[in-house]
Amino acid sequence: MPPENESLFSSALEQLNEARKFIAVSDETLEALKNPTAILEVAIPLRMDDGSLKIFRGYRVRHSDARGPGKGGIRYHPRVDLDEVKALSFWMTMKCAVVDIPFGGAKGGIEVDPKVLSHLELERLSRGFIQAIADHIGPDTDIPAPDVYTNATIMGWMASEYSRVKRTKIPAVITGKPLSLGGSLGREDATGRGGYYVIQKLSSLEGWDPRKMTVAIQGFGNAGFHAANLLHREGFKMVAVSDSKVGIYKPEGLEQPSIKDHKDRTRQLKAIYCDGSVCEERQAQKISNEELLELKVDLLIPAALENQITEKNTPRIQARFIVELANGPASPAAARFFEKAGKPLIPDILANAGGVTVSYFEWVQNKGGYYWTEEEVHRRLRSKMESAFVAVHALAKEKQVSYRKAAYILGLKRLADAYEATGTKEYFNRESSTD
Ligand code: NAD
Repeated sequence: MPPENESLFSSALEQLNEARKFIAVSDETLEALKNPTAILEVAIPLRMDDGSLKIFRGYRVRHSDARGPGKGGIRYHPRVDLDEVKALSFWMTMKCAVVDIPFGGAKGGIEVDPKVLSHLELERLSRGFIQAIADHIGPDTDIPAPDVYTNATIMGWMASEYSRVKRTKIPAVITGKPLSLGGSLGREDATGRGGYYVIQKLSSLEGWDPRKMTVAIQGFGNAGFHAANLLHREGFKMVAVSDSKVGIYKPEGLEQPSIKDHKDRTRQLKAIYCDGSVCEERQAQKISNEELLELKVDLLIPAALENQITEKNTPRIQARFIVELANGPASPAAARFFEKAGKPLIPDILANAGGVTVSYFEWVQNKGGYYWTEEEVHRRLRSKMESAFVAVHALAKEKQVSYRKAAYILGLKRLADAYEATGTKEYFNRESSTD
């Protein structure tokens, strides 16, 4: 939730007003982007394992389809609400424009704590949600994917439920599916990998020696773990990671893969070192999520939820660089503070666009019925992420603005091109000419 009861959607839109100061954009484009194309709120009845009936609230928002069908994940979280889903759908619109893929933005979510449901309850809830929104989504209108606390298995249930409702196989309606149901190779680690490609590009620009770079990552789920793993393999020193319960900090560096193995087995985050099949727990300092954000590190990667860095803790953030792998982890006020302080922040709409990029590849493969190798997916993902980074970097230099502002300028420009291609007030008011 946004701080001080401010609407997350309204604060997300502030970026547009900032960006338009640098490019010519019609009022109509701005107006369209401030008003989501379609909003659906549903009640999902769920028969619990004990026989009782519970009703859950679900949302699907298509923010913009100017550049293509809506695209965006489905989140399961107790704090999901319409305002959050609208903000997330807006960020998807901007993100798809920044990496230049032919999609608009969308997002969905259910207000639920999935950790307290049994697997069968979770399956019934996921299928129930698709039954409720089936007429609102489709391979050429709005294409869901995984987000916080949803995964490939859940996408598989959803895709099969959609096929059941429509009485035909339509794998391109949902991405992030299991491979055996039409998923793409390389989708599982795509968000973390995309962020890693961006960090590699930044690293070569800044002339970093990875072995001298300390990294702290908040959130050890799909996005956070894969980024941590790839950076660890590259030699970066991972000194702190955290999940919703705890953070661990070890200035000498943490053994990345063994932490994940342990977490998968025990659902606990501990500093573990494994040599072959022999694993042992190592000493690591326990820290809170707040403390992790304030560590003196070279690279801070928030990869959990939005609004983790706000006006309250911004002055205490000591990291030299921030890479937003989560959506909206730094509030607009925090971003402005960093911009003034000259602290580089790679924004979410660039840094975490790897997930939606490989989702796009999955959709292309589903539509074409021809599947690529993992190397091909990686090669194309690298190319997309690097091009987007280079374009944002060049714009930041040209306009003398932060990476965040540059990314919004780039996204807004591409969106304006799409909205304005069908005519603007100036076009329709022009005298018609027979010349
Ligand atoms: P996930 O469910 O796989 O992992 C979420 C992680 O955040 C878990 O480790 C969880 O313990 C941790 N967490 C939850 N609440 C927390 C809190 N209050 N403090 C600290 N940690 C907390 O989710 P994910 O897919 O990795 O998504 C993480 C972020 O990345 C979200 O903002 C999501 O929108 C964004 N994102 C994900 C993808 C994707 O493809 N999965 C793509 C783009 C952006």
